[in-house]
Amino acid sequence: MASQPDCLFCKIVAGEVPATVVRETAHTVAFRDINPQAPTHVLVIPREHHRNAGELAAADPSLAAAVLIEAAKVAADEGIDESGYRVVFNTGAGAGQSVFHVHAHVLGGRGLSWPPG
Ligand code: 5GP
Ligand code: ZN
Repeated sequence: MASQPDCLFCKIVAGEVPATVVRETAHTVAFRDINPQAPTHVLVIPREHHRNAGELAAADPSLAAAVLIEAAKVAADEGIDESGYRVVFNTGAGAGQSVFHVHAHVLGGRGLSWPPG
């Protein structure tokens, strides 16, 4: 889907809103969450606008895979691949999604309980 004018993460992709970018590819951007919930808290997004993980996977499976591959590379870069990390796609406001441009939360660097609180 084309870039959405009112979408915060489309603005980050366009460089109109600053972010601490940790990885970039032709198709994805990974940047630190502004309100980290763990020592490592990075968001991985496709450059293209899709509302959520399911819609992304249906529209472009290889782009969905690219987001997951980048999530694993972020974890390796951050040194949390061995200790373990969590990849979360909140989907819908009732599940805590507040930005409707799909993003993988990559969380780690501390013990993460399961189930989450
Ligand atoms: P959601 O609640 O939609 O699953 O996750 C949205 C995430 O985006 C939240 O963890 C929030 O802290 C983060 N966030 C919101 N605004 C900004 C921003 O302007 N910059 C960055 N880097 N993260 C943001
Ligand atoms: Zn967007």
